[in-house]
Amino acid sequence: MLIAGGGPVGLVTALALARQGIPVTVFEAEPVLAIDQRAGSFHPPTLDMLEPLGITAEMEKRGLRIQRWQIRDRKQGLIVEWDLGVLADLTRHTYRLHLEQHRLTPIVLDLLKAHAHAEVRFSHEVAGVEAGEDRVTVTCNTPTGEARFSGAWLVGCDGGKSAVRKWMGTEFEGFTWPERFIVISTPYDIGQHGYTGNAYIADPEEWIAIFQMPHEGAPGLWRFAMPVVPEHSDAFALSPAEVQRRLKGFLPAERGDYEVPYCGIYKVHQRVAKEWRRGRVVLAGDAAHINNPLGAFGLNGGLHDAINLAGKLGAVWHGREGEEHLDLYVRQRRTANIEFVQSNSIRNKEMLEEKDPAKKQARFDALRATAADPQLARQAMLVSSMMASVRRAAEIT
Ligand SMILES: Cc1cc2nc3c(=O)[nH]c(=O)nc-3n(C[C@H](O)[C@H](O)[C@H](O)COP(=O)(O)OP(=O)(O)OC[C@H]3O[C@@H](n4cnc5c(N)ncnc54)[C@H](O)[C@@H]3O)c2cc1C
Repeated sequence: MLIAGGGPVGLVTALALARQGIPVTVFEAEPVLAIDQRAGSFHPPTLDMLEPLGITAEMEKRGLRIQRWQIRDRKQGLIVEWDLGVLADLTRHTYRLHLEQHRLTPIVLDLLKAHAHAEVRFSHEVAGVEAGEDRVTVTCNTPTGEARFSGAWLVGCDGGKSAVRKWMGTEFEGFTWPERFIVISTPYDIGQHGYTGNAYIADPEEWIAIFQMPHEGAPGLWRFAMPVVPEHSDAFALSPAEVQRRLKGFLPAERGDYEVPYCGIYKVHQRVAKEWRRGRVVLAGDAAHINNPLGAFGLNGGLHDAINLAGKLGAVWHGREGEEHLDLYVRQRRTANIEFVQSNSIRNKEMLEEKDPAKKQARFDALRATAADPQLARQAMLVSSMMASVRRAAEIT
């Protein structure tokens, strides 16, 4: 089994395959695992799925448990505070676990090392694919020149710019938002002002998504994601003066400059590949779908792909199912992504940036009514925790 991309989705797919006794090779373009400030909030069903692989227990050693999260308004303050404890009859993980994506990947890599039939080849960029009736061959650029590897199946987990998806020639349907997102991290503990470790602040000009990350230990780092208008260059948005201006817009301004160890800017898209499988080549994770990070659905959805696909590939590999079983993976996960991840991440963004005061107030009233009704609040938690999307996928036959 060949896997392009040693990001979280590629590594988890590899581990889930290796545990079924299937030989697997991961090709990662970079010389080491990536360190970046991207995903960091893992939803209850993701923690449930990663538990049997031994990943969740390791994540828990470093991660922050966020059981309550908030929706706020920049002027009105707290609108609602949700409690994932309402899902206690469905999961042991009644919280979002916050852990930097770059602390998850070494955990999975370490677990993979226990399987002699699994290997990760760094500095191996998949540059070409040849797919035959019963084998797939990839050509990799390596520091010592080109190298070719063959296997029964190839899973493209090589991220949003996926070479495997481009080889498939399928459309990456959707759009790119005009604004980019800036992510600013600071150790200043905003919890002292009543914020939970995850909060979303609505504002027509400058909404903010807040995630507390464990970093090197307490108080961790507080990450603030905000929009950057198209008129502002990356250099301007990332300049220390502009970053401080933004932080002082909602944190106490009188205490001087904030320490900012990390700051990054991202283009944001809503796209889903038209085809996820061509013969012996299948896509998963960002290679198959990308979305804005409001709701923290991107990597979670990618990991749901990984577990679903590894189960089906295992059944095909061991002869329990025919290869058409992989089309069920595509139907289940592509539908869940379109119906749930794309629509809810877009809806979350629209809610945070609503410009019409009457519409905004109506949304807040509806949110408060939902939070006050135990049945409705539970339904809202089923959706925002992605449990509803996993159930929806499982219903598809
Ligand atoms: C600011 C921000 C915040 C986010 N927050 C969240 C969040 O809280 N929760 C959430 O669920 N998601 C979040 N996401 C999304 C999340 O980061 C991605 O969905 C996730 O990284 C996807 O994992 P992946 O393994 O599919 O792809 P990637 O992490 O992109 O990994 C792909 C890997 O493939 C390698 N590669 C690329 N091309 C090749 C090639 N040709 N050959 C070999 N290797 C190759 C790359 O080097 C990389 O290591 C966020 C994203 C951003 C930008």
